[in-house]
Amino acid sequence: MPDTQVLAAAPADATSTTYDAIIIGAGIAGMYQLYRLRQLGMKVRVFETGTGVGGTWYWNRYPGARFDSESYTYGYSFDEALLKDWNWSEHFAAQPETLRYLNHVADRFDLRRDIQFESRVTAARWDEAKREWQITLEGGATHRSRMLVTCLGPLSADTLPRIPGVADFQGQSFHTYRWPHEPVQFAGKRVAVIGTGATGVQVIQTIAPHVGSLTVFQRTPNWCTPLHNRPITEDEQARIKANYPQMFELLKTTPGCYIHDTDPRSVFDVSEQEREAFWEKLYGEPGFGIWVGNFRDVLTDPKANALFSDFVARKIRQRVKDPATAEKLIPKCHGFGTRRVPQETRYFEAYNLPHVTLVDTRETPIERITPTGIRTSAAEFEFDMIIYATGFDAITGAFDRIEFHGANGTLKDHWRDGPKTYLGLMSSGFPNMVTIAGPHNASVRCNIPRCIEQNVEWVSDFLAHVQARGITRFEATPAAEAEWSRHIEELAAGMLYTQIDSWATGINRNVEGKDVRRILQYQGGAPQYRASCDAVAAEGYRGMVLS
Ligand SMILES: Cc1cc2nc3c(=O)[nH]c(=O)nc-3n(C[C@H](O)[C@H](O)[C@H](O)COP(=O)(O)OP(=O)(O)OC[C@H]3O[C@@H](n4cnc5c(N)ncnc54)[C@H](O)[C@@H]3O)c2cc1C
Repeated sequence: MPDTQVLAAAPADATSTTYDAIIIGAGIAGMYQLYRLRQLGMKVRVFETGTGVGGTWYWNRYPGARFDSESYTYGYSFDEALLKDWNWSEHFAAQPETLRYLNHVADRFDLRRDIQFESRVTAARWDEAKREWQITLEGGATHRSRMLVTCLGPLSADTLPRIPGVADFQGQSFHTYRWPHEPVQFAGKRVAVIGTGATGVQVIQTIAPHVGSLTVFQRTPNWCTPLHNRPITEDEQARIKANYPQMFELLKTTPGCYIHDTDPRSVFDVSEQEREAFWEKLYGEPGFGIWVGNFRDVLTDPKANALFSDFVARKIRQRVKDPATAEKLIPKCHGFGTRRVPQETRYFEAYNLPHVTLVDTRETPIERITPTGIRTSAAEFEFDMIIYATGFDAITGAFDRIEFHGANGTLKDHWRDGPKTYLGLMSSGFPNMVTIAGPHNASVRCNIPRCIEQNVEWVSDFLAHVQARGITRFEATPAAEAEWSRHIEELAAGMLYTQIDSWATGINRNVEGKDVRRILQYQGGAPQYRASCDAVAAEGYRGMVLS
């Protein structure tokens, strides 16, 4: 922690519209960044599109929305009293509980007084003469700030499918991200779900028993594995709280900051019986262990990956009664873990219900949404409700929705061929701007609050350093940016996921121009990422020009 006494004091004029820092976004990242910058005595303003705090957990109110990180590993770790006070009720908490938690954090640290809700930032322009950012809100209001911290979220730019007729449907229709705050009734309704990613899976398994009929439109099946959620008992609660310090230390050592760590063995180091027994054990255990705690070569060696994919395929065949439906639910175009692994609870069993139908849109593509339902190349369906579980323009989408004008041009132009960053925290040509949980950062492959805390703490220390020295301009050098961007490419080499179309590789058929695979994520693991950031700080923030 830097010594806050040596910092330049925030301007005394409370009516001034020039802030020390403007933060965009009041999710986990924006909330913690506000807390830390306030501690440095800075005058900070947060702008947030929604009407409340919580980001992901404010927006995604769809039925079944819940963690696939263990709840107690996901909460903030920076305040001991907060950790002691909060009781998670389940190992993988549902969205309402997480939103309550984040509101509790906002109350506890009185965060809302510096957050302006219903304020979408549309543009941010660097003013070289004044060394300030000017940001513009929807509606035209402008605000100025010496520094800009973007906390936009990797999954906050929702996308509807590019299918003709989406606006024509006369029934109820919802994107899962923009789920209404009021209860939605399902009883007796004919419901369609488009999309079978992590969100679609959570929705389908949750509403299937409660609807009149459910028709699932699937383009890409996914390798879903059991979540095994359950309530936290009183004994477990006590143990979790007693072990928080050790657990957070452990989380700093694993590649994704999960409690699961990669098994150092190769798939081929063990006998077939041992392998099957290990995989049975992983399949029976809660959480992401099956993905991030598997043999070390499952995500890098195609032969190892094929063996494990076959194991999961056998499970799907055992669980789905109709063999034709089971085959449709087994991915054929990608191996296990090369796309985000949805965690499920009786998802496959939903397809055994007589009123649930699976439509494979690769066989019979959707031609259009009609006023009464959906028309495919084979049939016309009538629905009362369509749920779009069609996800996000991930990682860079929220950046594309703001016009950033830096010192030499726009961010859109600078990132035209993929993001260019230094440490995944800043970009050359965009002075006094830092990004939390953005592209090229460890956070997207991480149990994200752990990586967000690291990002925020590093950035806060850096901004304290800047203020203490009277520095009014900082910028990553093009050379440092090029070196980091090369490093990102090198780390991803050999990872099977880079050969697959998915949001993790920047592909989104619903967004124009998102049709070329990119390396968007840092693959070296969180401990190595943290070490790189710390080394830059220890060397006086090398790779930047400070003036
Ligand atoms: C359904 C779902 C479940 C998830 N579960 C997990 C999990 O179990 N474990 C895990 O590690 N990760 C999970 N994630 C990833 C998730 O994004 C992170 O957990 C986390 O919420 C990221 O925090 P954030 O603050 O970076 O972004 P967000 O929570 O997305 O917050 C960003 C905020 O910025 C605001 N914003 C964006 N653009 C603008 C703008 N132009 N102007 C004003 N405000 C703007 C948004 O409204 C939003 O409130 C999940 C994601 C989803 C969608």
